[in-house]
Amino acid sequence: MRVVERASQILKKMIKYKSTRSQEVGRSFKEALFGGLAGDGGLFIPERIPQISTDFFDHISSLSELEIAEQVLWPYVEGSLSREKLKVIVKEAFNFPVPTVPVNGDQFVLELFHGPTKAFKDIGARFMSRCLGVLGDEKKTKVLVATSGDTGSAVANGFLNVPGVEVKVLFPKRKVSPYQEFQMTSLGENIQAIEVDGSFDDCQRLVKQAFCDEELKKRVQLSSANSINIARLLPQMVYYFWMYKNLKRLPGIEEKDIVVSVPSGNLGNLTAGLIAQQMGLPIKRFIAAHNANKTFPEFMDGKPFVERPSIETLANAMDVGAPSNFERIMTLMGDDRDRLKGRLLACSFHDEEILEEIQQCFQRYNYLLDPHGAVGKLALNRGLSVNETGVFLETAHPQKFAEVIKRAIPDYREQEVSLENCRKSSISNNYEELVYHIV
Ligand SMILES: *Cc1c(COP(=O)(O)O)cnc(C)c1O
Repeated sequence: MRVVERASQILKKMIKYKSTRSQEVGRSFKEALFGGLAGDGGLFIPERIPQISTDFFDHISSLSELEIAEQVLWPYVEGSLSREKLKVIVKEAFNFPVPTVPVNGDQFVLELFHGPTKAFKDIGARFMSRCLGVLGDEKKTKVLVATSGDTGSAVANGFLNVPGVEVKVLFPKRKVSPYQEFQMTSLGENIQAIEVDGSFDDCQRLVKQAFCDEELKKRVQLSSANSINIARLLPQMVYYFWMYKNLKRLPGIEEKDIVVSVPSGNLGNLTAGLIAQQMGLPIKRFIAAHNANKTFPEFMDGKPFVERPSIETLANAMDVGAPSNFERIMTLMGDDRDRLKGRLLACSFHDEEILEEIQQCFQRYNYLLDPHGAVGKLALNRGLSVNETGVFLETAHPQKFAEVIKRAIPDYREQEVSLENCRKSSISNNYEELVYHIV
């Protein structure tokens, strides 16, 4: 009897996932993980956002990174994973540093690029792949993913040799960097790269179509690894908490408001930050920093939300004209644009501004930005006021965009661009196996 009571208490407490498009009955974390998209084509979102106690924030300095990750994620996976399993997954997934580094004045950078493929997507991909590995059953799971570059490499790398999982990566022909293409196409094993003669949005549409194809879903067990999958999004909350822990060490930070600038494409990273904020993380406001693809900034300006074809820019991982997580953000905000405006500013920058910022930031502060981080920093330069401490996210390592760096800083020496590990990853084909495991 006792056991039954306890079980029913857990069930009541357990967070379920609903669709952004309807009040479809709640799904468990496991169901949302394997489902990818909800049956009605909407995205899964937690039915409620758990609150973190103030005690947690008061003592955050004494918690390790892994303890923070475990505590933040636990309510979202309870009922599908045991606490012990979560501990193991967190330990394996978050096995690289995510430092908060001062850049200039009141501006800091949260470096998310120290993972194996040098983009922040490693974090979500590594977490999700391990969840699939642990929760998968007999049937082989086919993971479909559309990429504008970084997702594909992170997912391919994170899922390589995960038993019971086959990965299909769809990428737009000639629209990813050679380095990114190499990272996706060179692994083999359970990773298949599929070049699509179209744009990223076309790839994304094809993937979404597959998820709505009931016939196909009867034949194969499909899952998605885009940030439309909630299991990739949730772990991204964790580094906002790590950032807070690091900032908290600064003298006088208690009197300051924290503002976070997020280089944005599909808005997954921003959605994760907004959920972290709703859990109680003291971030005053966010800035959604976009390149010339300004579907979201225009919406925030009061225009209707109109999906557009994507425009090619130097920050190509953010070349998204139809940001998929928009639905999630609006659902989180009760479809209230004004409420969103209270905690979020959105802006957009052109390629010329990106090049200039990379050059200026290096010259003045000796900090090398990648084109995506440059967009994040540009937004902070514009939007930070007194009594605010700003953090922009560096979502990729500058080495991944060496051609852009060379354009921005012509006298930049090649060796300086190719930082240690990266030089190793450009070793010739003879050492393929080795190289693949390093990058
Ligand atoms: C994917 C990506 C982004 C955009 O993140 P979203 O979550 O899609 O908004 C930004 N920068 C880099 C380097 C990326 O790979």
